[in-house]
Amino acid sequence: MRKRTKIIATIGPSSSSPSKLNKMILEGVDVFRINMSHSSIEQTKDIVEQLKIESIKLKRPVATMIDLQGQKIRIKDFGKNKHIILRASDEFILDCSLAENRGTNKCVGVTYKDLYKHVDVGDEILLSDAIIKLEVTKINNTKIYTNVLRGGKLKPHQGLNKKGGGLTLRGITQKDKNDLKQLLNFDIDYVAVSFVRDEKDIREVRGIIGKKAVGIIAKIERAEAISKIDEIAEASDGILVARGDLGVEIGVEQLPAVQDKLIRKSISFEKIAIVATQMMESMITNRVPTRAEVFDVANAVTSGVDAIMLSAETAIGRYPVDVVQEACRICEIAEKTNRKILKVDRKENKFVSVDQVIALSAVYAADNSCIKAIACLTETGSTPKWMSRVQSNIPIYAMTKSDAASRKICLFKGVYSIKIDEVEYDHAEANKQVINLMLEKGAVKKGDFVIITKGDLMGTSGSTNALKIVEVGNLVEV
Ligand code: PGA
Ligand code: MN
Repeated sequence: MRKRTKIIATIGPSSSSPSKLNKMILEGVDVFRINMSHSSIEQTKDIVEQLKIESIKLKRPVATMIDLQGQKIRIKDFGKNKHIILRASDEFILDCSLAENRGTNKCVGVTYKDLYKHVDVGDEILLSDAIIKLEVTKINNTKIYTNVLRGGKLKPHQGLNKKGGGLTLRGITQKDKNDLKQLLNFDIDYVAVSFVRDEKDIREVRGIIGKKAVGIIAKIERAEAISKIDEIAEASDGILVARGDLGVEIGVEQLPAVQDKLIRKSISFEKIAIVATQMMESMITNRVPTRAEVFDVANAVTSGVDAIMLSAETAIGRYPVDVVQEACRICEIAEKTNRKILKVDRKENKFVSVDQVIALSAVYAADNSCIKAIACLTETGSTPKWMSRVQSNIPIYAMTKSDAASRKICLFKGVYSIKIDEVEYDHAEANKQVINLMLEKGAVKKGDFVIITKGDLMGTSGSTNALKIVEVGNLVEV
């Protein structure tokens, strides 16, 4: 049996060739992430097409997640210098009016021209993933004078964060809007929104997406997003704990507690939960993960996430296929041993739709009986999504003839997506078809009990209204 936890792999130079994509799908990648900070529209289009080819070849649906660049604040360039060295107690000036390329070892420009309005004397500014720490000592017009608290090597275009957050840039830029509008013409399934500040950023993205069935994942990487998490979770389809930037803003020591809180929030709102950044970082250059990384991945799994995400590990790392293999093995074992008893109350206890009633009843029934697996015939993926919101160990086989639904389902924990060409309209025939598919996949054997969910009117979306229990090898023929 395959793992329940989903793997999101970032595509980059190490992983964009057809043969690497093929191997990564085979090893267990469910969702491929394309980072718009590093990928052009043309490259993205090529990757989406290549993924379609490999996925058809392997008969394994995979989803695509576009990660919008967002409003990351960066320092500008140092002209001829490849980098500068800052030493503790040096004075260093962040000059909001300094042009690109004009940086020296005394000052550098920043991409946010109003930065000086949003910092105060005494604030801590962190550069390059907090490797360099500055304290603001004086603000003079557009110049922010700082004292270097922790020095180091500073390369151009590195990220800039304020400890505690509060840099009030909107989360979605003109580039994000343009990228998204163009990418909606291709088969993308999820869009990750970077540097989300509040639910308004999500609504803005939702407005651009319109009626397209593209899921929105809110990347939580700003301190202020934590206090707005209820509204953000409500407005999005999922939450991604972006530990890189978030760790810089709130301090890495806060991450374990905040990660736990965000995952629980996401589960209580019945949204997708993802943990990201440095999950298997050492495998960028090493063949095996560190013990700490193994524990980190296993901890995310037992906390109840839908997916873990690999970033540089698969984008620029030396072992993009091995890292997927290792991550899958850790997930599989962590799922089996299940060290934490996870109980998170649902935010909303009422069921809102018929397919939700069927979906949740199916999982509760299976979880507390001898039923081995659930098969659901679905049009949009809505029923398996509801099924996967319950923390259970029951495998869910979602069968659909919709290409888009078969891809979207790939991000739901514990759901195996199966693309079928045609659904039998006769119910007895459909039951047979479902069971045969499960036998083919090795999911069940003769004598096993299975729940099948489907609609009276097969072929109509959102119409799941039936739950049937069948015994494999003993189907009623009518
Ligand atoms: P990034 O975001 O990979 O787009 O930088 C993730 C993070 O900050 O953790
Ligand atoms: Mn980030």
